[in-house]
This record gives sequence, structure tokens and C-alpha cells, in this order.
Amino acid sequence: MTILGRERWPIWEEAYESIEILQDIFSEESEDRTHTAVLKIYRDYIDNVFSAIDKGKKIIYGNFAVPGTLMRGFDTEKIFWYQLEALPVIQSLVGEPGVWNAKLADAAEASGIAPEICSVDRIAHGSYVEGIVPMPDVGFYLTTPCDSQTCLVNNMVALTKKPTIVIDMPYSAEPEQIRYVARQFRDVIAFLEDALSVEFDFDRLRRACEIYNEMIETVADWAELRRVVPASQPCETLSIMAAVVTVFSGHQNGVDYARATFQEHKEFIEKGYKAVEGDEVRAIWYGDPFWSDLNFYNWLEKECKVTVPMDMFGFFTAQYLIDATTEEGMLEGIAYNALRNFPMTKQLLGSAEDYLSDYRTLCRLYQADFGIIPGHLGCTHAWGVSGLVREESERLGIPLLEFEFDMLDPRITPRDDVEILIKNYVNDIVVPFKNSW
Ligand code: SF4
Repeated sequence: MTILGRERWPIWEEAYESIEILQDIFSEESEDRTHTAVLKIYRDYIDNVFSAIDKGKKIIYGNFAVPGTLMRGFDTEKIFWYQLEALPVIQSLVGEPGVWNAKLADAAEASGIAPEICSVDRIAHGSYVEGIVPMPDVGFYLTTPCDSQTCLVNNMVALTKKPTIVIDMPYSAEPEQIRYVARQFRDVIAFLEDALSVEFDFDRLRRACEIYNEMIETVADWAELRRVVPASQPCETLSIMAAVVTVFSGHQNGVDYARATFQEHKEFIEKGYKAVEGDEVRAIWYGDPFWSDLNFYNWLEKECKVTVPMDMFGFFTAQYLIDATTEEGMLEGIAYNALRNFPMTKQLLGSAEDYLSDYRTLCRLYQADFGIIPGHLGCTHAWGVSGLVREESERLGIPLLEFEFDMLDPRITPRDDVEILIKNYVNDIVVPFKNSW
């Protein structure tokens, strides 16, 4: 099968071909339900990107914190919501991030972006300046989770010169702040209706909210299952969850993926599968995932006997389900989720206590032997509070390893170097400490 436009943009074509090859490997009958599901939904996504272009749908640009659920209130036959970070994420999950993401980061820097800006934002910017993503009709952005994102938003406003609305996200999520965000969502709806001559439909939104709730409840059940000792499902699965929840909130594909991953995990436990042969060492991966090379997680389990029962990108809870019975309930529920059930925003936008409290919770719930802060290069506000996590870890009696890397660009700290760091830390610090109990 050909995809519309594949000949225009090789970066998409290669990702699509990878998906097709991997789909042959992970057939529908495979017990690897996670990979089967993720390949299907991202193949659908690429099909949708190109059919949106070829059908002349109105394209809305958004940064990844824009709640997908809200966007489903618009008629998807007429509009397509494109997240600026979709391409780097697809490259990371199914492509060759070491090649493409690095090129796009360089393209952004060549156009004037500072190398200190988070690579997520540099690569998104590079995709735009290279002209390999759909061109927008309008923009709708949120000022979260960080200054790097806000910098990307500023650049997109300046470069695209399209009508744009940016909403201001408060640092905390008390009732007044939630209502403030919900009021701004009403402004967004009015703005997009006017700019694109499309109608927003609260009945469509209601269905999207119900789907969102179903997805999040399933993800929360899966997160609960991941507490099992010994760990059963590979840790690579964790790193995919945020990518799915971010793009497919309020979309049936999000529910399908969550169900598949949950079901896979259940079956692995029933069959007695262990992620690691022999004794495992359990780590909380408290930061950005190793998306520049997902095979790294296999190495972690096979060579290092380290399991990651939970990380910052997989920890969603069902605490904030959306009340889909009223318009206000929906808008406020979406606002609450955007502030409190979204990785990075949840831990890093507001008080440092949010960051520390999730760390404590994860270490306790998932019986951590040690913590890892993978220090993503451009994530300056996470670096700013990492010292507090170190102190917190000492209080908890849990060793903590910190190192510098880049989640998307393998040139910053090559995988080999990270492997040596982790292996030495586990052998020299964590295992002797664990055995001394
Ligand atoms: S990794 Fe850090 S700097 Fe990059 S988008 Fe996330 S919060 Fe922002």
C-alpha cells in the first residue's frame, strides 16, 4: 500500500515502511499486544496526516500539552489537529531517531534556535523550517509545561504568521485556577470557530470525554498492575504510554492501546513471565524516557537485571475523571487533567513539592531499590530541583543516580556511555546497599 504523499517526505515514508515491516513481525496473533497496538495506531495517524493534507482539511497547530479531548469537539472531517512534536515522537517509536531527529535538531539550530533549548522543541521547530510537516491555518497553544515549549510557541507564531491563540496555564490547580483555564477553553472554541468557519459540538465533546475516561481508567489499572513483584511486562512499554495518551486522548485509538497493554500485562502475569531472569533490581526512572533508542530498555533488563516498574511518563491516575454531564464539567475536567494528569506539567510546572511528592509515591508504591534521574539536557527546570530529589532520596534511604543525556538526540551522551554509568552504579552501589539490609 502507498500512503498519500510518502514520496514528498522521506522522513515519513521511512517511518511508515518501518511500521509495515514491524507489523509483519508482530502479527495480530502475537502475544506482544503492546507493539501490535502501537504500530496500528501510529500507522493510522500517518494515514490521517496525509489524508488531511490531500483532502484540504483545515490544519490546527498545537504543542503537545494541548488536550486532544478538547479538539475532538470539532468535526474531524473538516479539521486536523497537528501536534508539533508528533514527528519526533513517531521517529523515536518506529523510525531512526539517531538519524532524523539529529538532522532536524541541527536544522533548527542552523535557523537560529539556541542549542540549550529542549530537543523536543528544537526538532519540532526543525520539522517546520524543513517544510516536512503539514502547514497550518491557525495555531492553538498552551504555555506549559516549560519555557522551552513557550519558546517554540513564540517561534511558531512568528514563523507561521497565522491567526493564533495561546492560553495561559497557572502553576497550581485549585478550583479558581481550573475555572480560569476552562474559561479560556471557551475563548479557544470561539476563536477556532471564527477563524476556521467550523462549529464546535458539545455532544461530540461529551463522547470524547467518555472515551478519555475509559482510557485513563484502563491506564490507571495498568499502572496498578505494574506494581507486581517480580516485574512481568518489559519496561519499554512504560515509555510509550505518554506518547499515546498525549496524541490519542479522547480518541478510540487511545482506549484500544490502553486495553491492549493492560491485557498483555495481565496475561504475562498469569503465565508467570518475568521481565528479568534471576533477581531483579527495581528502579524508578524519574524523568524523560530513552526515546533516542528504545532498545536501551532491553539492555537494561537483559544485561543489567534492572526493571523499571514505573517512570514519570507512565504514571497516570484515575483520580481526575471528567464529569461529562455538563459543559462546565467537561471543560473544567479537561483543564484539571491538563494541569494534573499530564507528565512534566504535573511534576514540573508548579511547586517543587509536586515533583518530590510523586517521587516519594513512586518509590513506595513500586518498591524501588534505587532512583534514576535521567537529566535531559534542555530540561532546565527539572535540573533546578534535582538537588531536592537527591536529598529526598537520602531521607527515603534510596540511592539515586543522576546523569546527563538527551531523550531524542543520541549524540549528547551515547548509549554506550549511559550503559557503563548504570552498570557501574548498580554493581558498585545499589546491589551492595540492597544486600546490606
Ligand atoms: S523535557 Fe523538559 S524542557 Fe523538554 S518539553 Fe518536557 S518539560 Fe519541557
